[in-house]
Amino acid sequence: MDRKYPLSRVRNIGIMAHIDAGKTTCTERVLYYTGRTHKLGEVHDGAATMDFMVQEQERGITIMSAATTCVWRDHQINVIDTPGHVDFTVEVERSLRILDGAIGLFCAVGGVEPQSETVWRQAEKYHVPRICFVNKMDRVGADFFSVLKQIREILGANAVPLAIPIREGAEFEGIIDLVQMCHVRYVEDPKGTYPVDEPLTDELKEYAEPWRKNLIEAVAEVDEALFDKYCADQPIDVEEVRAAIRKATESQLICPVLCGSAFRNKGIQRLLDAVIDYLPSPLDVPPAEGTLPDEDTVVVRHASDEEPFSALAFKVATDKHVGKLIYVRVYSGILESGSYVYNSTKGKQQRIGRLFRMHANHQEIVERLYTGEIGAAIGLPDTVTGDTLCAEAQPVVLESIDFPAPVISVAV
Ligand code: GDP
Repeated sequence: MDRKYPLSRVRNIGIMAHIDAGKTTCTERVLYYTGRTHKLGEVHDGAATMDFMVQEQERGITIMSAATTCVWRDHQINVIDTPGHVDFTVEVERSLRILDGAIGLFCAVGGVEPQSETVWRQAEKYHVPRICFVNKMDRVGADFFSVLKQIREILGANAVPLAIPIREGAEFEGIIDLVQMCHVRYVEDPKGTYPVDEPLTDELKEYAEPWRKNLIEAVAEVDEALFDKYCADQPIDVEEVRAAIRKATESQLICPVLCGSAFRNKGIQRLLDAVIDYLPSPLDVPPAEGTLPDEDTVVVRHASDEEPFSALAFKVATDKHVGKLIYVRVYSGILESGSYVYNSTKGKQQRIGRLFRMHANHQEIVERLYTGEIGAAIGLPDTVTGDTLCAEAQPVVLESIDFPAPVISVAV
């Protein structure tokens, strides 16, 4: 069976956040809107979908990486959970290494907190393109422009809003989408909160215009024609703006910033749209590099099902039903269940048992994991985090992960 989603329609992303910024809530909403879960869990009781490990439930924080596959607008989005607690920096490094893009999630009240900075720097180290989401715009004390300033000043990112809020805190009314130049408003009725896209009033247009200009100027470096059109007051196609933002984000020239509230559905749907529109697919990032075993010869593996198989084990977990699970990211070729693969780090051949695509609340047994996919394998007794799995006839050792020593017991 062929792959369901072409590589261009795959996204491997992580959500980086300081504890309490709303990562669990946002992830839950993502899974809800992408149809993988049908019940929104209550975060406080520790029953959130991603937090399925007992220890996490006891401590109420996400400490282990989990990979979850979901589908949005006919794209396969693999969400790799990056823990937000400072004790678990090693886990964060492991998961960041295999991402193609990330969402930096911030609380509109708390802003950029120390842990956000740590994780941000790690993402920088691995050249992971990022978009930001300023969450909790509905909370009293929310201040989007202050958080924007912090992202610029503390994190040093060229943060460019793609949306700005209309009022904040208890009066939060909605957002202005600066790409489409429309007003996204939330309407409350007894059945729930509904978003509506409306043309901007003259007043809102006036408020939005400097930020629209800021956006077009920020992407001028990758699309000068767009800027010229803007200056000449010529009509600008939304897709043209999106393409320029994508290019500028991929080359990390800009860091797009969205805002909203995990409690209001449109914000999360726009965030998912942004993942698809602006974050790279495995085809858009540099190919995986490694060496031949015991040699310095550089080997490059392009992201293609046709290339020799290579994958990196990035996490080992124990599942009460199936035992030891090795999470892998496939960089090239296809991993087939029941096949023999070569652990080039250990110099050992191993037989792959069952393969799984992981969802938040269930494991889907699959025959193959294709290039760009993230999944889990059983039957690899000697494989540990950081090992490369590959085709024995065409071995490669992917760049090893340079893990720092774990930081123990640091209070946040
Ligand atoms: P995590 O630690 O980052 O996973 O954060 P949680 O998702 O557990 O959220 C922390 C708290 O913030 C919870 O009480 C959530 O209900 C609340 N929260 C999350 N998102 C929002 C939001 O958009 N608005 C408001 N007002 N509260 C939120």
